[in-house]
Amino acid sequence: MSAPGHQGGEQQPGAGGVHPAVLAWTEGDLGVEGRVLEVVRAPAAVLSTVGEPVDPTSPETVQLAADLVATMRVSPGCVGLAAPQVGVGAQVFCVDVSEHPKTRDHHGTFVLCNAEVVSGSRNEKAREGCMSVPDLTGDVKRASRIVVRGQLPGTGEEVELHANAFEARCLQHEIDHCQGLLFVDRVAGAHAIFARQTYL
Ligand SMILES: [Zn+2]
Repeated sequence: MSAPGHQGGEQQPGAGGVHPAVLAWTEGDLGVEGRVLEVVRAPAAVLSTVGEPVDPTSPETVQLAADLVATMRVSPGCVGLAAPQVGVGAQVFCVDVSEHPKTRDHHGTFVLCNAEVVSGSRNEKAREGCMSVPDLTGDVKRASRIVVRGQLPGTGEEVELHANAFEARCLQHEIDHCQGLLFVDRVAGAHAIFARQTYL
């Protein structure tokens, strides 16, 4: 997901309780150098294909995780990037909302494999953008408190984390990518899609 600008506030108290293993995770744990990859844009077929589950401990997954973080880092406004966006049909994504002004509680930078939303509540509508749909933003209704289950790359440790507000939105956006869905598939209609005016 990329930051859509400052439209549409998401103000709420944080739910608290970040996951310590996810908070402590850094890309340095992967032990490989990430490469900056080209980000593919809609209508590339990989963006609308359900990603394959991965072995989180395999060297391919570890390299992919490092590449996703490296690519996110060099992309202005990018708060999350999923494997299909670099042309790989796999259920892996990275997230880092720590620098975003709408963020409340967060887990810093992390990568999840084979992630799924276990539960969600408190739907809110807010504006989203995406590097794979660079010219548009859209109003998307999503749960503002969620529980997500997935595995950390490298160790394969199974984690269940609670996320809220902007991090929750970003996680749902990236999990959608892994299932072949874009934010434009989630908007209520054409009235909820807008031309992007500024990238940040
Ligand atoms: Zn996206």
